[in-house]
Amino acid sequence: MVRVILAAMAVLVAAVTGIVGYRTYAFSAPPLLASVTPPDISTYAVDAEAAAARLGAAIRIRTVSIVNEGDDPAPFAQLHAWMQQTYPAFHAAARRELVNTLSLLYVWEGSDPAQPPMLLLAHQDVVPVPDETRGAWSDDPFGGVVRDGAVWGRGAIDDKGSLVAILEAAELLAAQGRRPTRTILFAFGHDEEIGGEGAQAMAQVLADRGVRAWFAIDEGLAIIDRHPLTGRPTALIGIAEKGFATLRVSAVGRPGHSSMPPPETAVSLVAEAVDRVHSMRIERQLGGGPAHAMMRALAPELSLTTRAAVANEWLFGPALQQRFAQDPAAMALIGTTVAPTMMNAGVRPNVLPGEATAMINFRLHPRDTAADILARARAGIADIEGVTLDWAEPPREASATSSVTSSSYALIAALSEASYGEAAVAPGLVLGGTDSRHYGSVAENVYRFAPMVLSSDDLETIHGNNERVSVENLERLIRFYAGLMEAGAMQ
Ligand SMILES: [Zn+2]
Repeated sequence: MVRVILAAMAVLVAAVTGIVGYRTYAFSAPPLLASVTPPDISTYAVDAEAAAARLGAAIRIRTVSIVNEGDDPAPFAQLHAWMQQTYPAFHAAARRELVNTLSLLYVWEGSDPAQPPMLLLAHQDVVPVPDETRGAWSDDPFGGVVRDGAVWGRGAIDDKGSLVAILEAAELLAAQGRRPTRTILFAFGHDEEIGGEGAQAMAQVLADRGVRAWFAIDEGLAIIDRHPLTGRPTALIGIAEKGFATLRVSAVGRPGHSSMPPPETAVSLVAEAVDRVHSMRIERQLGGGPAHAMMRALAPELSLTTRAAVANEWLFGPALQQRFAQDPAAMALIGTTVAPTMMNAGVRPNVLPGEATAMINFRLHPRDTAADILARARAGIADIEGVTLDWAEPPREASATSSVTSSSYALIAALSEASYGEAAVAPGLVLGGTDSRHYGSVAENVYRFAPMVLSSDDLETIHGNNERVSVENLERLIRFYAGLMEAGAMQ
């Protein structure tokens, strides 16, 4: 009998080893569509220094998002006039519309209306520079200085670098008398940093016209100089972005003196509820989101053990999760995150408050919906009397996940390779929000990528101090967008 069991076990081990081995071997990047041959983008006559000076000029126009009604919209009008003046060939070729007061929608009509248009996105507004951080800047944040091979100032990366590069590329082609066959749409929102009503309005205009774009491309991800898993430069093309939802936890208690408290107070109830929601079960895995596709794309660069583990999540899932749990960025990639961020209760140490509240911020992974999270959070605290859970504001769902086998993904990937061949190309997940989320219904696929090579130091300057973009990166962007327009719309 023992021999039979041993033999059965040996067969089982051999089978598992075989499956693991086969899956590891078969785990590789899906082939990109062979039909994409990008133009030689190195031949474009780009004057990077002159473009850098123009980006500097754009930075000097302080288009800080308009938060209050009384805020001065003049900088946006100034930017619009500057764009018209600086890019005359493009403005002669394309039709320009103002939408939602300050957002700009351009239509560069193609000769073949049968081809779905290409949609290029960027935003005009920038976040402010708080007075208390001003001292940490080496230059005037709105000076647009070109120094040490970089353009310095608020918006250099986010997102005037892309805005100016798109205009530079369009001007370059328009000045050569090039005309697209496929219509190219340009949508430049004016309030991305505060919610993107402009983008929403432009998407609505496009929807009303029955537009269904081939693809849309916006900011979101870039070429990181060192991928945490492979240690190599990697171009991450955002194929989805996470949702955003904030849960308000409220508890009512009996107000009174704290010398003879009831078993629970509003504070203890909220604390208990926050703790339970914080530790609620969240699905975390590679599948069901961009993580799996990212791993597949990076498969050739993964160590054999990592590759075996990710190819066999059915077996090594728990081990993988343990490894990911050590890195907040990795955890954010594979699941919804839960972050208690605010608490409010009580006025005196010796007074029982009648009410206590807390806020828990969720970043929704594409596999989760806000309604499901809320229902499960409520079920988890159902036995705590006097506590209610509601969204503090309407939740924003995660975006749909765009294809990694589409012709547009292949085009972007090929142009990324042409821009910076040292980098592997892989799909990624955008953890924050971009204007692109509003265009999901008017584009077949939505990608979030600009081929700037950025270090982790560079990433910290976005919305931070000493924001700057290297002239090299700016040139890379211009060539990329020109290649996108030429290969995608002019052949
Ligand atoms: Zn931005």
